[in-house]
Amino acid sequence: MMRQSILALNAGSSSVKFALYDLASPQDLQLVSRGTLDLGDVPTLRAKAADGAMQCDRRLAADKPRDAAIGEMLNWVQGEMGERNLLCAGHRIVHGGSEFIEPVRLTPATIEAIDRLTPLAPLHQPRSLAPVRAIAALQPDLPQVGCFDTAFHQTIDPLVRRFALPRQYEEQGLRRYGFHGLSYEHIAGRLGEISPTLATKRTIVAHLGNGASLCALQQGKSIDTTMGFSALDGLVMGTRCGAIDPGVLLYFLLERGIAADELQTMLYEKSGLLGLSGISSDMRTLEASGDPRALEAMALFAFRTAREAAALANTMGGLECLVFTAGIGERSSFIRKAICEKLAWLGVVIDGPANDAHSEIISRPDSKVEVRVVATDEEKIIARHSRMVMQV
Ligand code: ADP
Repeated sequence: MMRQSILALNAGSSSVKFALYDLASPQDLQLVSRGTLDLGDVPTLRAKAADGAMQCDRRLAADKPRDAAIGEMLNWVQGEMGERNLLCAGHRIVHGGSEFIEPVRLTPATIEAIDRLTPLAPLHQPRSLAPVRAIAALQPDLPQVGCFDTAFHQTIDPLVRRFALPRQYEEQGLRRYGFHGLSYEHIAGRLGEISPTLATKRTIVAHLGNGASLCALQQGKSIDTTMGFSALDGLVMGTRCGAIDPGVLLYFLLERGIAADELQTMLYEKSGLLGLSGISSDMRTLEASGDPRALEAMALFAFRTAREAAALANTMGGLECLVFTAGIGERSSFIRKAICEKLAWLGVVIDGPANDAHSEIISRPDSKVEVRVVATDEEKIIARHSRMVMQV
């Protein structure tokens, strides 16, 4: 019998993560393959089966456009389908604005409406739409679904969303949106699966990857987050500055005469861990480096994360659970320890050996705040939403 499958795509700055799922029971999705299309200097397509066995490790021609690489990925997936029918491709879309608060079927009209939001995320939205357009051109009959990173934060109170700017700007869309919503939705769901009581705790989820943010979860819903109007706000990130005094931007523009696009590149691509250390945006490289600038960059990353966590604990009126996820959150015991130590006053007591072992629970039994490490899986949420939209 033909099995029905869904391809989930998660486009980032220089790579597209993808995962193929079979529709198992009505509730369940079964992972078939997971891979990455690396679009850096050496374009590569890698994929592994659900059991970890390598299925593909192929260098792609460096001189071909991005769409051709997406085409190669799609061809590879379809070559592996066997007795499967590809039902649809689901995508992570960074910005849904105020309009897209649910996943949608991607049609020429919805793609155009999503594209109109590009001024809200000038660097990220085109990356989200590139694979959508490539697949639409290659396989116009394959249904596609868009899943929005902003949607999970629609539960944030209007007051918390506001900037203290003249009112008319809020109506024009100048407000806090929040991002990493697919990751937070996955974590909220996982906490509920681990234990229903856990899901009711006042929780901060720390999504610490190249992009990084925190989300305050109450009863599994987002009530505050550190990213705002753009994905620049909040924490120190790999190459982004995080929260910054707006006066600094005015100074660059008005006093130093820096062009707006140069400032944009500085804030998004040359700041954060990279700008601070002058060495790398990659936490692994910084951890391995003995350079004092690398140490300071990591110290500021931890300080600012703890500072923002305290602000979110304030929004919730307390803190009962802290969850680390994404590349740094799941794998850097050094950074988790540095953050937790700064939150000791809130009742966080980290268990050193459990933290070093990347255990599920890394707090001591006497810690008032339970600290956990939970792997994120944005692709699974994309596949789940796509299934819902396709009504199967
Ligand atoms: P993205 O936001 O691109 O999806 P990831 O969630 O993959 O990013 O996280 C990438 C970050 O995780 C990088 O800074 C990387 O150095 C860091 N990272 C990955 N593995 C480790 C590790 N073992 N120790 C410390 N940092 C790690």
